[in-house]
Amino acid sequence: MRALCWHGKHDIRYDTVPDPEIEDGRDAIIKVTSCAICGSDLHLYDGFMPGMESGDIMGHEFMGEVVEVGRDNKKLKVGDRVVVPFTICCGECYQCRRGNFSVCERSNRNKDVADKVFGHTTAGLFGYTHLTGGYPGGQAEYVRVPFADVTPVKIPDGLTDEQVLFLGDIFPTGWQAAVNCEIEPTDTVAVWGAGPVGQFCLRSAILLGAQRVIMIDNVPERLTMAAAAGAVTINFDEESVVERLNELTQGKGPDKCIDAVGLEAHATGSLDAVYDRVKQAVMLETDRPHVLREAIYVCRPGGIISIPGVYGGIVDKLPFGAAMNKSLTFRMGQTHVNRWTDDLLARIEKGEIDPSFVITHTVSLSEGPEYYKTFRDKHDGCIKVVLKP
Ligand code: NAD
Ligand code: ZN
Ligand code: ZN
Repeated sequence: MRALCWHGKHDIRYDTVPDPEIEDGRDAIIKVTSCAICGSDLHLYDGFMPGMESGDIMGHEFMGEVVEVGRDNKKLKVGDRVVVPFTICCGECYQCRRGNFSVCERSNRNKDVADKVFGHTTAGLFGYTHLTGGYPGGQAEYVRVPFADVTPVKIPDGLTDEQVLFLGDIFPTGWQAAVNCEIEPTDTVAVWGAGPVGQFCLRSAILLGAQRVIMIDNVPERLTMAAAAGAVTINFDEESVVERLNELTQGKGPDKCIDAVGLEAHATGSLDAVYDRVKQAVMLETDRPHVLREAIYVCRPGGIISIPGVYGGIVDKLPFGAAMNKSLTFRMGQTHVNRWTDDLLARIEKGEIDPSFVITHTVSLSEGPEYYKTFRDKHDGCIKVVLKP
C-alpha cells in the first residue's frame, strides 16, 4: 500500500510499504477514506520530537471503512464506517476505567522507555514516535487499529467524512481545553493560537457559555476565521498581547487562558523568544514556552491556564513564582478523546456545530509531502488539510 512516511526533518515521502495485518484478536484493519495533517505532526516534521525512525508511517487523524476484524473483536464488523481516536487505549486498565484514556497504562508498546522519560507511561498513539509505541499512523491507505473493540467511533449514515473526521482529535481537543477552563457565564477566555485546535477551543468555549473569547495569532486569515465565530482578535505582530488583554479586561486579565500553540511558539521582538531559539538550537531546551509565560503573566489571579498545545520535554524560565502567588490552576494533557466523542457526535448530528468549517484544502494522499510544507508555512491561506488516499 502507499503511505506518508517520515525520513527526517522536513522529509516526508509517499512510499510503498507492506500492508498491515491483524496481529491480535481485538484488532481491525481500516481502509482509510479521509485523513488529515495535524499541528502535532508539524512537531515531527520540524524535528522537535525525539523518537521517530526513518520510514515511520505518519498520521493520527483518520477515518474509514472496516475491512477486516480480529476474531475476538465483538464491536466492529466489515463494512462499518468509523472514526479512530488518536489515543490507543485498552478500555480496562486503572486509567481507562476512569476515562483517562490518553494515559492508558497498557497500550504503549514501549512502556519501559516512557516510564524512564516521563516517570510513568502514557498511552500508545498512532504515528507519533516510538516513545508512544511506534504505531504506524493513518496517513495511509490502510491502518491496523489495536484494541479496535474499544475506541473507534461508529458513524451513522447521513454524515460526510468532513463533518466527523475531526472527532478523532482536534474537535475533542478544543472541547477538552474549554471544559478544563470550567467556564462561567461572566468569563473572558483568551486563546493563543488560531490554528485548527484554537478554532475548536474558541467554538467550544462559546458553546460552553463563555461571555467573550479573545483569539491571539499573527496569521490574518486564521484571525478572520476566529472573528467569524465571534472572537475579538489580537495580532501579536501588530500589538502587545499583554497590554491589549489588560485593556480589554479593564486591567483584570482574562479569567481563563488557553495555550493552543505549544512548543513551537513564535514571538515578535521579545527577548525571551531569542533566548529560547538559541537554547533550543543547541539542545539546552527542547520547547519554546513563550505563550505559557505570557499566559501566566496576564491571567487573572485565581484563573485557569488550560494547555492543549503539545510540549515534549524541558521548558526554561517559566515564571513559576507568578503562577504560584497568583493562585493559578493548570490543566493540560493529550486529549482523552473517547471521553467526549458521544456528546460531540450528537452535537454534530443536531447541527450545533459543523466541524468541516476549518478545512481549507482537500488533496490526494500522494500530494501529502507538498502539503506538509504548505500547512507548516501557512501558504495559500492553509488552515487544515484533508488528504484522500
Ligand atoms: P498549528 O501549527 O496550525 O497552529 C498553531 C498556531 O499558533 C499557528 O496559527 C501559529 O501562527 C500560532 N502561534 C505561534 N506562536 C504564537 C504566539 N506566540 N501567540 C499566538 N499564536 C501563536 O497547529 P494546531 O493543529 O492548531 O495545533 C496547535 C497545538 O495543539 C499544537 O501544539 C499541537 O501539537 C497541539 N495538539 C494537541 C492535542 C492534544 O491532544 N492535546 C491534539 C491536537 C493538537
Ligand atoms: Zn493531533
Ligand atoms: Zn487502558
